[in-house]
Amino acid sequence: MYGVINEFKHIEMPQMLSLGTNMFLSLPEIIERLSLGNKCLLITDKFVENKYGKEVKIILEEGKIETTVSIIEDSTLDEVDKQISVLKELGTNFVVGLGGGKPIDVAKLTSFKANQRFISIPTIASHDGIASSRASLKGIGERHSIQARPPIAVVADTKILDNSPYRYTCAGCGDILAKKTSLKDWMLSHRIRNEPISPTSVALSEMTVKLISENANLIKSHSEGYSRIVMNSLISSSLAMCVAGSSRPGSGSEHMFSHALDSIAETPALHGEQCAIGTILMAFLHELDWENIQSIMNTIGIPTTAKKAGLKDEDIIEALRIAHTIRPERFTILGKDGLTHEAAVNVAVKTNVID
Ligand SMILES: [Zn+2]
Repeated sequence: MYGVINEFKHIEMPQMLSLGTNMFLSLPEIIERLSLGNKCLLITDKFVENKYGKEVKIILEEGKIETTVSIIEDSTLDEVDKQISVLKELGTNFVVGLGGGKPIDVAKLTSFKANQRFISIPTIASHDGIASSRASLKGIGERHSIQARPPIAVVADTKILDNSPYRYTCAGCGDILAKKTSLKDWMLSHRIRNEPISPTSVALSEMTVKLISENANLIKSHSEGYSRIVMNSLISSSLAMCVAGSSRPGSGSEHMFSHALDSIAETPALHGEQCAIGTILMAFLHELDWENIQSIMNTIGIPTTAKKAGLKDEDIIEALRIAHTIRPERFTILGKDGLTHEAAVNVAVKTNVID
């Protein structure tokens, strides 16, 4: 057990979670049920706009919802300010974020700052920010995560997700398996620092890891609806963060390692890919069964070595060395001082992350 338990007082959650085939068609009905109004700002990027944006706009307009499509260039605070100006000028009632991480993060923060609600429509299953209250945006030099509000609805179409590039789905699985170490870090901090812990949030997060681990072969086989398992886990992981009121259940030392890589690597890998490698390394430090975690990742097809993820060995070592500085207020297995160079090389070599 986790010793003294403190539950959290306020929990903000999405109101509607819609997951299934042809779910786009239900958008007008969902908007009506939630009484969101009839004027929306649809935030997306160029690629997704060509693929799905036009179709979504038609569905919304057939449902008598006046829709303005706004294309973002990147996920920056400047972009959020730009979207807020567009929103104010148009006098919209709500925001829709359509796409991968960037449009959803921009839509999340835009709607939060403008005090409007937003619908999250993920077209890839690559990370667990889909239904969470935190927005990851590019700040000055490095990526930041900002507290916003969870989407009022998540609308995920499994037909689209089943056919999305498998690399992104793998990254999503990596972001879920990362909970193996982030939960250990949270419990460690609870024991050492008496940091409050939520058993509900822990149980939800553990369930997502189980879902991915037990269905690794099914995910790999791409059987119809396989993306449903991944999206279900990602949404549940977001909910675990909503319950905790922070990213604590889903983001520990392995995420700090990934954020460190973002600031070092010339070409970083996907967030979930970096977190997966971080999980193997941190599992070794936590004395968990890292070989089992690695084997599940290999079954799914998640890259488990620096080479496979297109990362440099020296960047892995440096990221391990500086990971503890990324978020010093968050206590993890890395402690206050982090790893020595020799210890970093040792963990990376012993886990076969580097040669
Ligand atoms: Zn993550």
